[in-house]
Amino acid sequence: MRKYVIMGVQGSGKGTQSELLCDDLGLVHISVGDIFRWHVKKHTKLGAHVRRTMNAGELVGDDLVESVVRERLDQHDWNYGFVIDGFPRNGRQAEFFMESYDIDGVIHLELPEDEVRRRVLSRRLCPNCGMDYNLIADRPKEPGRCDICGHQLITREDDTPEALEARLSDYNEKTRPVLELFRRKEYVHDIDARPPAEEVQASIRDALHLPAYKATV
Ligand SMILES: [Zn+2]
Repeated sequence: MRKYVIMGVQGSGKGTQSELLCDDLGLVHISVGDIFRWHVKKHTKLGAHVRRTMNAGELVGDDLVESVVRERLDQHDWNYGFVIDGFPRNGRQAEFFMESYDIDGVIHLELPEDEVRRRVLSRRLCPNCGMDYNLIADRPKEPGRCDICGHQLITREDDTPEALEARLSDYNEKTRPVLELFRRKEYVHDIDARPPAEEVQASIRDALHLPAYKATV
C-alpha cells in the first residue's frame, strides 16, 4: 500500500501529476477540489453550501474539508493506496492524518510565484465543450477559438490576477506551515515543477523509489 500527500501552489500541476502517478500504480486520486466540484454539479446540499461560500469570496472551512476527506477515505476503495490533494489544511489535520493513515511521503511541487502567475493567467476554457487551453503550452490553432467546437474561449472567473493573489497568500499562510510540519518528520520530497509534465513525473518516481511510468491505455 502506498499513501501519499501531494502539495503545491495552484498551477503547479498537482492534478496532472497525481493522475500520472495513479494511472499504472492503481492508486486512487483523492482531490478535495474535485469532490467539491462534483457536489456543486450534482446540486447536493454540500454543493449548495460550497457554492454559497465561494460566491461570497470565502474559502470552504477546514472542518468541512476534513469531514469530506474522512468520508471519502472510509469508502476503502483504495486497495493499492492513494494520492491526496487539497488536504491537510492545517497543523492539527496534518498530525491527525500522519498518525491515522501512516503516510509514506509528501510530494511537494515547487514552482516560483512568477511562473505560477504566468501559467494560471494564460489558462483559457471553452465554455461550450469544456476543453482546456493554455496560451503558453497548449494554445488553440486559431487564437481565441476552440479547436474542437469553434466556440470562443473564455478565462475562468477565478483565474483573474486578484483571485490568484488571494489564493497565493492563502497558500503561503496556511499550507506552508503544514509543509514545515511534514518536513520535520522528514516526509517531504521537493520536486521542481518547472520542466514538462513527463519529466516532473520521472523526478517524483525517482524520489519515491517507484518504477518508471508506463501508460495504461
Ligand atoms: Zn469547445
